[in-house]
Amino acid sequence: MSVGTRVDVAIRGVRVDAPVRRAGGAGPSDDGHLLLGGAGAAIPLDPASPYVVRDGSLWLGDADLGIPARPVDRPRFYDLVTEDGVPYERLARLHGADVLATTVVQTCVRYGEADRCRFCTVEESLRAGATVAAKTPEQLAEVAEAAVRLDGVRQMVMTTGTTAGPDRGARVLARAVRAVLRAVPGLPIQVQCEPPADLAWLAVLHEAGATAIGIHAESLDEQVRRAWTPGKAAVPLTAYEAAWDEAVRLFGRNRVSTYLLVGLGEDPDELVDGAARLVARGVYPFVVPFRPLKDSLAARDGATPPDPRVVRDVTERVAALLRAAGMTGAAQQAGCAACGACSALPAAGA
Ligand code: SF4
Repeated sequence: MSVGTRVDVAIRGVRVDAPVRRAGGAGPSDDGHLLLGGAGAAIPLDPASPYVVRDGSLWLGDADLGIPARPVDRPRFYDLVTEDGVPYERLARLHGADVLATTVVQTCVRYGEADRCRFCTVEESLRAGATVAAKTPEQLAEVAEAAVRLDGVRQMVMTTGTTAGPDRGARVLARAVRAVLRAVPGLPIQVQCEPPADLAWLAVLHEAGATAIGIHAESLDEQVRRAWTPGKAAVPLTAYEAAWDEAVRLFGRNRVSTYLLVGLGEDPDELVDGAARLVARGVYPFVVPFRPLKDSLAARDGATPPDPRVVRDVTERVAALLRAAGMTGAAQQAGCAACGACSALPAAGA
């Protein structure tokens, strides 16, 4: 599958009935989950899209593109309920074909309108009753065991809304990792949080058994950060750099990643230069096209997705940097870079 087609469909969406989808939640993606060309892909579901999945293939209008395509099947673990009566589906979701993803704490100290990341809807799924505010370690262990046994899940992503303490959410992540690994020894798990104010929390996460970590700046452009992630922008990029370096020391090179969103008004050349600096320090820049989520501040303000040509250009240049450094998403074993469904980087060979 060409990078151009992969990017275009990620931005223009697809017409298909996808049983595995999420509407809102943490971070910048809400999509239907498909297998495109055999790889997991998180693609906006849009009844007006020129792309359609039909007869096991991806079509553009009346043209069969010859790319195998099908929605990911609804996993069996979605039909189970915990011993304390909570549907598993409200505790963790299937992403792609084999990733279990959960937001351990579904609230964020930065969710006030002045501070909130404008692309994020972490508390909207809570308001809609699609999830619960805080998942206990025991609940997550129960769901992970079932998802691995019944549905072939191969890795887990744990994110969290930011909490008020100096751990920024690392404390609850570490407890969840320990519990899941007791239930499913050896399951690769990626944790995601802001840079802890006390970097010792990174060692706690590593000692808990996490395989990889995402510390997501979203943008390296200070003006973009102030406009799009005003709360997080209060944490200087130097704090991110210190956290990335400490995380690389603990977890290893290419076990640390950050989202870089394309389409927030940044200069593409500066984005690629910043990605090169990340690669040089052993951090995988997970390049993802911005898409405005329903109920986000960005959608309310009428923000639109980026030009696919820009996304393709940036993706191909960052993929070349990653290939030259020998850093693949798959080598992270767990996390968004290992999954790849929200990015065109895998289609570009990274
Ligand atoms: S890249 Fe991350 S957020 Fe996207 S589908 Fe994969 S695990 Fe989920």
